[in-house]
Amino acid sequence: MISPAGVLTDALPTPLDYAEISREELRERIRARKAALNAVILGHNYQRVEIQDVSDYLGDSLGLSQEAAATDADVIVFCGVHFMAETAKILSPRKTVLMPDLRAGCPMADFVTATALKRLKAEHPGAAVVTYVNSTAEVKAESDICCTSSNAVKVVESIPREQPIIFVPDRNLARYVMERTGRDDIIAWDGYCYVHDDMVLEELDRAKKAHPKALVVVHPEARRELLERADVVTSTSGMVEYAEKHDAVIFGTERGLVDRLKARFPEKTFVPLSGAAVCGNMKLNTLAKLAWSLDHRQHEVVMDESVRSRAETALRRMLELSGGWTAPTEEEKALELAGVHPSGCGCA
Ligand code: SF4
Repeated sequence: MISPAGVLTDALPTPLDYAEISREELRERIRARKAALNAVILGHNYQRVEIQDVSDYLGDSLGLSQEAAATDADVIVFCGVHFMAETAKILSPRKTVLMPDLRAGCPMADFVTATALKRLKAEHPGAAVVTYVNSTAEVKAESDICCTSSNAVKVVESIPREQPIIFVPDRNLARYVMERTGRDDIIAWDGYCYVHDDMVLEELDRAKKAHPKALVVVHPEARRELLERADVVTSTSGMVEYAEKHDAVIFGTERGLVDRLKARFPEKTFVPLSGAAVCGNMKLNTLAKLAWSLDHRQHEVVMDESVRSRAETALRRMLELSGGWTAPTEEEKALELAGVHPSGCGCA
């Protein structure tokens, strides 16, 4: 294992070799290696339970990155998808950020590249670029300001009325923001989150038939027809609040959140709008890959400093507009422990 000097002596070659080890031993290796590296493990709310069980912090992507920036750890292992690990690196440039599986990407983030965005900017000189946090660092670097699903309306309202807006990459969130702000000058990228975009009316009808008294709460990444039939359209953070106040709710979002809320409120009736609303990308990380990642200090997120600093500017503008980042309250910490972070980004 780890020598007294913190030197690793028994690393195995591949994650597959780690998959042969028992869970208990994997957890022990992870614990020892984490201490030797002065590392923290950040687990997104939609990670597998085995990952959540060994995570130091659970939450949404932005909240986790802010937690990472606030700790004195030297190494951050981000169990989520690629743009989330990048966001941690953007906000913690001097720390080593690792990802257990490089293939854990976000299809919505991959809809837009920096090159394509530069082309669109050239076609609309003077337009402000508002970029959802579910995007690559290169795309953030080409943006004026970032947003989450919680603050997208506020961010767009901060742009002068006479200045057109390019909104990337989520078309559904862009349309929702247009309707909420009454702005018709938003040029929306044609991207989407397959988990939310795939939810359909038939599934809502089925859920409503089975639970006619349940409140219907839908995430703004879903399609318009679902939003029109919802009692409430809100971000993940809003969903947690509705879960606290209502006894029966149909949730139109990634079902991992619903499962967590059900575990927290077993006496309530919480149902996923769609049983198929699962983000497979998030589930690529496993305990074996996490142990391999720590033992090999892989895969390290590396970023060009000019990209990082420009992306940080866009992120910090958003944070300032939202009142900056503050340490979590006791209530928020309790929610994190329950696996539910209240300040959700749009990532389900
Ligand atoms: S839930 Fe959607 S936005 Fe989040 S990582 Fe998966 S595909 Fe991307």
